[in-house]
Amino acid sequence: MVKETGFYDTLGVNPTVTPDELKRAYRKLALKYHPDKNPTEGEKFKQISQAYEVLSDAKKRDLYDRGGEKAIKEGGTSGGASFTSPMDIFDLFFGGGGRMHRERRGKNVVHQLVVTLEELYNGATRKLAIQKNAVCDRCEGRGSRKGAAQMCMSCHGSGMQVRMHQLIPGMVQQVSTVCHSCQGQGQRVSHKDRCKTCGGRKIMRQKKILEVHIDKGMKDGQKIVFHGEGDQEPGLEPGDIIIVLDLREHSLFTRRGENLTMAIELQLVEALCGFQKPVQTLDNRTLLITSHPGELIKPGDTKCVMNEGMPLHRRPFEKGRLIINFTVVFPQANFLPEPKLKELERYLPVKLEEEQPESMDDDLYIYADLEDCDIQSRKRHGHQHYYMEEDDYATAGGVQCHTS
Ligand SMILES: [Zn+2]
Ligand SMILES: [Zn+2]
Repeated sequence: MVKETGFYDTLGVNPTVTPDELKRAYRKLALKYHPDKNPTEGEKFKQISQAYEVLSDAKKRDLYDRGGEKAIKEGGTSGGASFTSPMDIFDLFFGGGGRMHRERRGKNVVHQLVVTLEELYNGATRKLAIQKNAVCDRCEGRGSRKGAAQMCMSCHGSGMQVRMHQLIPGMVQQVSTVCHSCQGQGQRVSHKDRCKTCGGRKIMRQKKILEVHIDKGMKDGQKIVFHGEGDQEPGLEPGDIIIVLDLREHSLFTRRGENLTMAIELQLVEALCGFQKPVQTLDNRTLLITSHPGELIKPGDTKCVMNEGMPLHRRPFEKGRLIINFTVVFPQANFLPEPKLKELERYLPVKLEEEQPESMDDDLYIYADLEDCDIQSRKRHGHQHYYMEEDDYATAGGVQCHTS
């Protein structure tokens, strides 16, 4: 049990969340609430960042689970905790490069691209329209005609003004502020010399169509980087555009690494006597899933079809497995009249001897009829259908439903 769930709630996850699920939750929310996309949600962006910073660190997460937010604020054994800035967390997560590096370059621009499982299976090329800051072509980022800029006389080119501010008579404080006359530029351009294209702002908002190549076997959350295509600023190296793939859930298949999993529900007769089920693959072939008469599928059985999983990234001719989890639907009560049941009984394996009543003398036995249990315990039993073999836990990403 965890002490409180506030940080988990902020990220919309359960306290049992795995590190991978946590990353996914952070990624989705951080992109949604990033100040570039949602300037009014700064506080929310900060909360997401702080929650992720704590929960993504095994030590801090443990501390939080035991002592809640208070324990984190007090810092436990590490001696006082302070949060990293939300932007640094974001840049670190999306590969914005180190701090040193970043200051000499324009901003990276991160975009999310929603993709289908079909696109990750088959590969695809998607066109994405983006907006970015570009240095003005006409004035080459000067903002004016060549040689038209003159040193600002108010600040003598420093861009800053120092003012004296009297606190009380005889006590003066020096205050530095950005120069009003030149807005900190250090130079002034007369109105007529201003670049007509950018209005003297040196940069322009530019629309750009990016062709994003999605390779076979790429993953949810994978980044595709367009180097040097990010925001431009005069005198700085441009940043990157980073496209982050966001997989939309598929109605039939779930991806688990290189494998695909799906569920098939069988009628009892199919489980016992064999069946054929068509399954449409992600590249529109039809697999005929076949269980021959004599084979038998038990409730909760897991079977697989080799080479029908996901293609491997950069080795697309190799594929994982298609893993099928079976459930078996039993017939309704009274589906056969009693004489027919007796007949059916003859075909099914014989009852074990020791479980048979020794005598049919009514006095020896108390007849106990079966009733439905309460809903809670029925739910627990219902879970049995989804049990998987131990072997599949690793590939299934740790689905946990064991109660024993
Ligand atoms: Zn100035
Ligand atoms: Zn211009």
